[in-house]
Amino acid sequence: MTMEDWQIALRAGFEPLQYAAFFGALLLFGLAERVAGLAPDSARPASRWPANFALTFLNVLVLAALPVSGLAAADWAAAQGFGALAWLGAPPAFALAAGFLLRGLIAWAIHYAMHKMPALWRVHRVHHCDPALDVSTTVRFHPLEFAISAPVLIAAIAFLGIPPVAILIYELLDAALAPFTHANLRLPAWLERKLSWVVATPHLHRIHHSPDRTETDSNFGAVLTLWDRVFGTYRAKDAADLAAQRVGLDDPAAVRPSSPAALLALPFRKGG
Ligand SMILES: [Zn+2]
Repeated sequence: MTMEDWQIALRAGFEPLQYAAFFGALLLFGLAERVAGLAPDSARPASRWPANFALTFLNVLVLAALPVSGLAAADWAAAQGFGALAWLGAPPAFALAAGFLLRGLIAWAIHYAMHKMPALWRVHRVHHCDPALDVSTTVRFHPLEFAISAPVLIAAIAFLGIPPVAILIYELLDAALAPFTHANLRLPAWLERKLSWVVATPHLHRIHHSPDRTETDSNFGAVLTLWDRVFGTYRAKDAADLAAQRVGLDDPAAVRPSSPAALLALPFRKGG
């Protein structure tokens, strides 16, 4: 199989692969939580899972309904010879590697803006106000968050000229890693150290879900840790501190709204 054949095969199977990566990881790490998860978080699924999975279902519908995708933007840019990597005449292998890293940078920047711009934080806090953390938190987002971020993502992919195959690889990794980073699991210290050089881990992402604002505003990378290291937002702590750390928000407006309707109304409530 040549490089081109691989890309065509990846392309043809992309949607089913993406769903398989996401739901496979959700199931795998959900089961791992049952076997090896830590007690305080896993004790409360019954009160959180209905709302979290209701929002997940809603978001799957919203994402399917969005008229343009990042992949379509990359296809368009590739067909037109549009975007920074094309204008620079980047060789294909370099464009693939740089495009993958740049896709991570876009995700980092959108997530950073969600925390730092008050109007966006009101939307994003739906994800952060979960009083515990497990695989069900993964897609507990307000659907507005996707509607707001999609145009930015699409424009950035086009203007950077990220190759479609870089988008395919990134999105598959993202789909598989998101349930992993939200899982109520601890990795062995040696594995945590090695993995966190490259990718986000449950340890790092749990710090991101701390109610302490300096910790909430750290570890924005959902796939790569590179951009947090570059911009000084990378934060780790020792295992005992992490075990003692709470998750959720102290924001009075966002303390435990537990029904889907309350979560959907949260961006329009005062506070935060
Ligand atoms: Zn966040």
